[in-house]
Amino acid sequence: MLSFWEKSSLLDFDYTVIGGGLVGCFAALTYKEAHPAAKVALLERGLLPKGASTKNAGFACFGSLSELQDDLNDCSLDDLVSLTERRYKGILHLRASLGDEAIGYAPVKGFELCLDQVNLEQMAFFNNALRSVFGSEPFSDHSSNLKSYPFDSQIKGLIAHAFEGTVHTGNLIDTLYKKLGEIGVRVFTGTELIAYTESESKVQLEVTSGHQGLNLNAQKVAFCTNAFTPLFFPELDIHPGRGLVLVTKPIEGLHLEGSFHYHSGYNYFRAIDQRILLGGARHLDKLTETTHEFGTNPLLRTQLVKDLNELILPGYSVEVDYEWSGIMAFGKNKQPIIKKISDRVAVAARLGGMGVALGSLVGKEVADLA
Ligand SMILES: Cc1cc2nc3c(=O)[nH]c(=O)nc-3n(C[C@H](O)[C@H](O)[C@H](O)COP(=O)(O)OP(=O)(O)OC[C@H]3O[C@@H](n4cnc5c(N)ncnc54)[C@H](O)[C@@H]3O)c2cc1C
Repeated sequence: MLSFWEKSSLLDFDYTVIGGGLVGCFAALTYKEAHPAAKVALLERGLLPKGASTKNAGFACFGSLSELQDDLNDCSLDDLVSLTERRYKGILHLRASLGDEAIGYAPVKGFELCLDQVNLEQMAFFNNALRSVFGSEPFSDHSSNLKSYPFDSQIKGLIAHAFEGTVHTGNLIDTLYKKLGEIGVRVFTGTELIAYTESESKVQLEVTSGHQGLNLNAQKVAFCTNAFTPLFFPELDIHPGRGLVLVTKPIEGLHLEGSFHYHSGYNYFRAIDQRILLGGARHLDKLTETTHEFGTNPLLRTQLVKDLNELILPGYSVEVDYEWSGIMAFGKNKQPIIKKISDRVAVAARLGGMGVALGSLVGKEVADLA
């Protein structure tokens, strides 16, 4: 049974965020900074966040040329330009909020590996469209430098993106949680929301936490549960997409700077501490990868290791040291969903594969709705 003290002081909040990924943390941070006297809580079902934000590859990216070209099948050029702008502003907001050093931000540039010569006409088209976003042309043909990279001769072209960089995903989330503690947000990890009931005066949140039948109360609630949002709001166009990441053992003599993409952004790799982190290939088996279950798909793993040995680092001896998966959220297009469900309840979800870029702004926007 709950004590008088628990009931009178510890269970009622002005603003409660469900989901402790990048978006949820930024929602809680933004609300608390705007309302310092408010009681703000964040509930995360895992001891560590259990979705995408601690599982990602740490690319601060905005879309490779071939990925942007693909995106035009599902949206207009205007929508694509404004989404790219939000991604870029999101990275600027993330860096300004937490500091480059704390999040391990490195402005290493992005590179797309092309199996054909660079399509200069396509590059000029997107440079023209995105000049207003970045202040100058983001893409340039870097193919004349290919010889200085270890890649196989199947790679015929290299396109540089001047504004891309990388972050240290672990340090980023660690910094965010420290900041939430410092400003007085109550973080409940290992606490899963099971159901909620909205009344005229509050939202009652039923959680599992080791206290049977425990309910928290909130005046306003933000669901920042990304791929898991349909459990509460099945009407939203959100479906899960699993992503696989491998990290090799340290590789002697490895010198590789940049964040690299190929296959229309589905595959990616970067160097980290003399190792290669690589991932993706979800497009090879989208049906199996449309899942909320963490785990490894052997088909994708085999292809990633083959790419590593035959395309990225032929001639090196490479062994996988770490592997993990994370769950992203997708829909019919790449726009995130930020919307009020009622006066008290809002949702911010569906960040796809570029939530590092978008997450801070999406979190801020859902807090601003309250
Ligand atoms: C393998 C992989 C690689 C990626 N690489 C990149 C990259 O390089 N660059 C990039 O920009 N993006 C990348 N992404 C995407 C990016 O990580 C996501 O878009 C972003 O982290 C989404 O943040 P979020 O806070 O919306 O969701 P999440 O991080 O998924 O957070 C949602 C949280 O809600 C919690 N939750 C769910 N239900 C409940 C409940 N009922 N009660 C309490 N808590 C709950 C979950 O445990 C989870 O922690 C990658 C993703 C993956 C999986």
